[in-house]
Amino acid sequence: MRIRTLVVGLAVGSLALTACGKEGEPGTGGTQGTGANNEAQLPTYQVAQNVDVAGSPTFAKVKGRGGLIIGVKDDQPGLGQKDATTGKYSGFDIEIAKLVAASLGYDESKITYKPVQSASREQAIANGDIDYYVGTYTISDKRKQQISFAGPYFEAGQDLLVRKDDNSITGPETLKGKKVCSAIGSTPIQRVREQNLTEPGNIVEFQKYSECVDKLVSKQVDTLTTDDAILKGYAAQDPDQLKVVGKPFSKEPYGIGLNKDDKALRDKINDTLQKALDDNTWQKIYDATLGKSGAAAQKPVINRY
Ligand code: GLU
Repeated sequence: MRIRTLVVGLAVGSLALTACGKEGEPGTGGTQGTGANNEAQLPTYQVAQNVDVAGSPTFAKVKGRGGLIIGVKDDQPGLGQKDATTGKYSGFDIEIAKLVAASLGYDESKITYKPVQSASREQAIANGDIDYYVGTYTISDKRKQQISFAGPYFEAGQDLLVRKDDNSITGPETLKGKKVCSAIGSTPIQRVREQNLTEPGNIVEFQKYSECVDKLVSKQVDTLTTDDAILKGYAAQDPDQLKVVGKPFSKEPYGIGLNKDDKALRDKINDTLQKALDDNTWQKIYDATLGKSGAAAQKPVINRY
């Protein structure tokens, strides 16, 4: 739990960023246990009783099974991370997954988390391998051809993670000739290709972002590009070696991925998200998770369709 000790001293939001100067170096300004938000606690979610989601085939399946199977990420600190020792999942996305589960009548003991990497998400949802997916999943028209999205419940932006001593990469326009790493099937790697940000031969792809982090530290690539929220979590884990450039160059609205035809479930999840935004639950989740690694809070506007 190195991330916790490093960043626990931070206040949240812009205050924190001002206080410690540079984005992406959230540990540096913190003093443990002094500020008001240091001890930000996760909220608890009231488990709804006698729930029915009329007309939802997914919910009918869940009911028959007596529990939920939720697709998540497992290597993204602050968002969706599996603790190697305890096997427990934690992070902003995990809390959103639990919030939704509670509104459907299931507490955490009834959740099975299934790690699904970026490239396999549409397939896992379309196949019905998971009931819904919560894991830094950008809402896009292309993906909407196969699945649907509730939300957005957060807005991130594409950014760059570099070695701390590298001042040659300062934005997307500085990537030519650099080895750029990202995850297969992600919107950031698609943008690198479409906008020709580096030469095709300099693009390195893995299933998981954590593999890019390893390659960045061992100098086999020059940068990892994906959402700032993800990168800030990696930088917070290793502030001596890594930093985030801090100039986001896209909008990545995060949605909850679900079956394309299940409008009833989508409406239900949107109701749950709206309530959490209105009653401060969303803010509490943010403060106790992402807020600690310095990602800026953007309250999203739910987009119903
Ligand atoms: N939000 C981006 C995407 O959905 C990048 C993060 C990820 O791969 O999960 O592709």
